Amino acid sequence: MTDTSDIVEHRPLIIAGTGAAGLTAAIYAARSNNEPLVFEGDEPGGQLTLTSEVENFPGFPEGINGAEFINNAKQQATRFGADVQNGVVERVDDSERPFRVELSNGDVYTADAVIAASGASARTLGIPGEDELMGFGLSTCATCDGAFFRGEDMLVVGGGDAAMEEASFLTKFADTVYIAHRREEFRAEDYWIDRVMDHVDEGNIEIMRNTEVTELHGTAEAGVESVTLVRNPEGHPTDKLDDPDTEEWEFEVGAVFYAIGHTPNTGYLADTGVELDDDGYLQTVGGTGGGQTETGVPGLFGAGDVVDYHYQQAVTAAGMGSKAAIDADDYLEDLKREAAAQAEEEPAAADD
Ligand code: NAP
Repeated sequence: MTDTSDIVEHRPLIIAGTGAAGLTAAIYAARSNNEPLVFEGDEPGGQLTLTSEVENFPGFPEGINGAEFINNAKQQATRFGADVQNGVVERVDDSERPFRVELSNGDVYTADAVIAASGASARTLGIPGEDELMGFGLSTCATCDGAFFRGEDMLVVGGGDAAMEEASFLTKFADTVYIAHRREEFRAEDYWIDRVMDHVDEGNIEIMRNTEVTELHGTAEAGVESVTLVRNPEGHPTDKLDDPDTEEWEFEVGAVFYAIGHTPNTGYLADTGVELDDDGYLQTVGGTGGGQTETGVPGLFGAGDVVDYHYQQAVTAAGMGSKAAIDADDYLEDLKREAAAQAEEEPAAADD
């Protein structure tokens, strides 16, 4: 039996995360009378709050600012009765029911069902200088920090859509934007590559292929001053440092932006029975029909970037959020039916 002496509150449903997935789940769950309690996590609003314009979410023909989009979704969820609170879920205990949901501030809640919509956080390289310079010229969000480095040369690391989008955005502020990508081919879709190539033609962007950063130089006071770069014509130069074809040089820049993907926020699920893949992404049932957001643990559902390493779009995350709320509602309705049936049986047994 769960010790309830330290429990702040019990809810039918707790949702971890307030990005597109978590807030959409909250809207649906509130409208299904499941009284969702939604914890914002370390990065309230998720990745969209770090985006300038969302131009591919249907219904906004002129686009919408990412933070405004999230704020609207939060208001919409709250209007239907969702309770959105500050708080970082640190651990979920699925060893008994209800689930025990522990926050980093020590508060403990219980819930009959949990939706993990905790997203993914920006990856870093783990190179010397990174810890000292993060926030002082090194950033994982060009749209948040680009304007601070007006007139400087800037370096974007990565070759995906985010790197191309961020490099294009930074041309508004930078003297020159450099893109360092570890291999020859870009992963980004043609739309973004074409935009970057237009900037290359205009002299705003220079591309350094088969190139990686191995060290950042500077101080918290002066910011980033330069980086050490390595290049090998075959790509992935940091794997080929002893190769005579690998060259190394110092390169002066005033700011560095990482755009090298994300890591899912699933640490708080480590003690549960859910399956995580090698990169830490939460495994759901998927497929067609109902129950697509179910995990291996009944009552625990997953939605958004915490599950989806491939699409990672606001609209797909929102779609998964709605599915998770519907799946959770089905689960909670089954629980109620089982409890009602048990309640009916018990008096009958007592009468015998
Ligand atoms: P991504 O597609 O995973 O690309 C990450 C890039 O960083 C890759 O080019 C990768 O190189 C490089 N990289 C990863 N680890 C590295 C390391 N240790 N050192 C050097 N380079 C490294 O990530 P993303 O660009 O953040 O995009 C994620 C998802 O969001 C994608 O589905 C994308 O379509 C979507 N997105 C869409 C838009 C849009 O406008 N619609 C904008 C941004 C993002 P390799 O290519 O060699 O692996």
